[in-house]
Amino acid sequence: MTVPATDNNLDNFIGGRWIPSQSGATFTDENPALRGSSLGSFQSSTADDVACAIDAAADAFRSWRQTSIAHRQQLVAAFLNLLKESREEIARIVTLENGKTMRESRAEVDSALIEGGYHLQHAAAFFDDGSRRTSIGNLTMWVKLEPVGVVGIISPWNFPMNVMCRKTLPALLTGNTVVFKPATFTPWSGIYMARLFEKAGLPPGVFNCVTGLGSAIGNVMVDSPRIRAISFTGSTSVGKTIQARAAANLTRTQLELGGKNALIVMDDADVGLALDAAITAGFSNAGQWCTSTSRVLLHRNIAATFLASLIARADAMVVGDGLLESTEMGPVAGQRQYEDVSRAIRQATSEGAQLAAGGDTSTLPTDGYFLRPTVLTNVTPQMGAFREEIFGPVLAVCEFDSLDDALELANDSMYGLSSAIYTTDAATARVYIDSIEAGLAHVNVHTGYKEPSLPFGGIKQSGAGLPENSETGLEFFVDRKAVYERLP
Ligand code: NAD
Repeated sequence: MTVPATDNNLDNFIGGRWIPSQSGATFTDENPALRGSSLGSFQSSTADDVACAIDAAADAFRSWRQTSIAHRQQLVAAFLNLLKESREEIARIVTLENGKTMRESRAEVDSALIEGGYHLQHAAAFFDDGSRRTSIGNLTMWVKLEPVGVVGIISPWNFPMNVMCRKTLPALLTGNTVVFKPATFTPWSGIYMARLFEKAGLPPGVFNCVTGLGSAIGNVMVDSPRIRAISFTGSTSVGKTIQARAAANLTRTQLELGGKNALIVMDDADVGLALDAAITAGFSNAGQWCTSTSRVLLHRNIAATFLASLIARADAMVVGDGLLESTEMGPVAGQRQYEDVSRAIRQATSEGAQLAAGGDTSTLPTDGYFLRPTVLTNVTPQMGAFREEIFGPVLAVCEFDSLDDALELANDSMYGLSSAIYTTDAATARVYIDSIEAGLAHVNVHTGYKEPSLPFGGIKQSGAGLPENSETGLEFFVDRKAVYERLP
């Protein structure tokens, strides 16, 4: 079945023009709520298309780098205004190609607007920091911030427009030009963003969008010595490949990767709040959130009560097409996701975990990639469900007896992205903040919460390079030139 995507074409956007791939090949974008559907045909680009996009971005860089910050701010502000006006339309596109609910898609657009507004507001002060200027006699010394050049942006499908905005807007504000590759599951959101940049009046070549497979064109971007920095969000395994390949040209990387985020619930916690946190961060976006809660660590004293409510709430969730306002959880993003998550659940039960909620899909519509919110109990640290990022609506539950045990469990992971503790004791909170191995530490706040003024990134195998957002989100895209100036 075909749901017409749009009346506009879905070509690549290169050098300010909409052009098809030189290969002539296309791929279809499937609505995960409707197996076998096609939202449209997108360009299956090749190395030649990427080369054209890099040419266009390199040409545009010569003049774009000379523009004033105020001018760049004006264009980014125009883009954000258009984004705000298009909130409902872009939210619908995100829901159609990713599956998340309209409420979640609108929240994604709002998050992009908030983060974009933050960068827009802080860009001028970032460049104009007087503390970097000093002098000795008639020798003036200062640090000049300069754009890196052409940068590559590679984004995942789970937040198809927010993640690209979080990277692209700081890159543009700091004077770089961009070659962007959206994820294969979600090319339409990327193309739509390109249209907004075009409408906002960005000069040709400053922003380019090329669709296609990661293995076909993502690699080409990473290998190109003409791309000076790669900002990537995606899986840890692809992140490692990118880091290794980028090393060949010492290309700078910003890698935001996977997670296995733990929610710790102490026996003094407000259990109602902690339950809300588990449901919100566990099942929003069908659990396909890098900062999703995926491990729930319960103090043994409250475990039975907590679990009874968690299971009841998971069982009661309305799963269906994200376009329906009544839907509380949409499908997972595609067939590959459906198969991977189903396999992980089967593996968990075969390893001895108990399926306390979910698993049974017989009551769900069969025309999409729908899964039920799933709760696995009796999980041990040796199991795949404890160690691997499942990236679906699956909570793995373990019990503990003390804060030390909880922290040992939480830190027993190769990942270190987000975390949360629910407790009413300030001393417990302090020990957790000091000991947790994660880029984000939340106390009585769910694992998915973030503000743009704080860095967003993981430690251990959840990330490398400067984090997004905050000042570091801009810093990643600049070189620092040390200037020693003695004028007669
Ligand atoms: P993925 O790694 O499969 O793909 C991410 C992007 O990389 C896509 O655009 C893909 O086409 C491209 N790609 C694939 N192979 C490539 C290669 N060899 N070279 C260059 N590019 C390549 O990830 P995904 O399945 O799209 O997204 C889910 C993953 O993203 C999860 O692991 C999730 O935790 C992670 N994620 C992390 C964050 C964060 O901020 N830490 C945010 C969102 C998602």
